[in-house]
Amino acid sequence: MLRYPYATPPAPGAVLEVAPDVLWLRMPLPFALDHINLWLLRDTDGYVLIDCGLGDKMTRALWERHFHAILRDLSITRILITHHHPDHLGNADWLMQRFACPLSMTAGEFLMAHAIFHSCAPFTAEATFALFRTHGTEAVYLDAFAAQADLYRAGVPSLPARYHRLNNDIDRTIDIDTNPWQVIIGQGHAPEHASFYAPTKKLLISGDMLLPKISTHISIWAFEPESDPLTYFLDSLNAMAALPDNTLVLPSHGLPFYGISERIVQLREHHKERLNDLREALRLASRPLSAAEMLSELFPRELDIHQRFFAISETIAHLNHLWLRDEADRHIDDDGIIRFSLAL
Ligand SMILES: [Zn+2]
Repeated sequence: MLRYPYATPPAPGAVLEVAPDVLWLRMPLPFALDHINLWLLRDTDGYVLIDCGLGDKMTRALWERHFHAILRDLSITRILITHHHPDHLGNADWLMQRFACPLSMTAGEFLMAHAIFHSCAPFTAEATFALFRTHGTEAVYLDAFAAQADLYRAGVPSLPARYHRLNNDIDRTIDIDTNPWQVIIGQGHAPEHASFYAPTKKLLISGDMLLPKISTHISIWAFEPESDPLTYFLDSLNAMAALPDNTLVLPSHGLPFYGISERIVQLREHHKERLNDLREALRLASRPLSAAEMLSELFPRELDIHQRFFAISETIAHLNHLWLRDEADRHIDDDGIIRFSLAL
């Protein structure tokens, strides 16, 4: 059983001290996943902030409350970012300008943010839709995705032009107050996601790489259409599985928890079952199936349009996993649609 030392999250605009000098705050998200957790770590002359919340009005209004209630005359001295997604990076530039503080993230995440923000060819919404189309997504859904405007820029109104690079060289830890924090880089959800582990405090700020209730979204996108992000993700969990089990995990979504190794076993099991479901569906099918046709095997529940977008990406990722391990064959048919069948 995972253990949750805090039954309820801090109220909007309030904080909860989850460990000495480690503050938990929560920001809203306008999606089915309706919140993100952010962390303020007390440093010698202010706070180090981990992730920034979506760059929208609601989050910024809450930030104003935090500036007055929590920070008072202190400032944010440094921002650390786990990865480029809007709920994590959205307010980074805004906060950097306010506090004149540096920002650190991995090179992969910094470059990715700029590639999407500036609509470089393989990173555009159109490129994503084209990928989803080749995997059988119907026009009605592609139109609905296209009608959603530019979600990235809506969540990340401006981007920092420079940064400090995070590496996962464990000899080069980040010192916050007197505590060293190690950077653990993980893949599969984002190209170079950073988590932060403090051995002396037994804390892991896991970002999106280890979540208590939901499984991390496994991403496949147009610029790497034939990759196997599920393997990247499962391999990345090894670094976390090696951490002591009395580590308190501070995830980006859900409640802080104890039970790293158990959660990792659950996640491995979850993906194994999902792959079995796909194998079974391919076995029973009388013809090859596209990712769009297989989507309901992985996501049998009702999906809103935002969830469907990510569900397609994740279904392709699971099918690629079977294909690249020679468990499934992949056919590109005359209609341009990619379909999968069980390997003989
Ligand atoms: Zn994310």
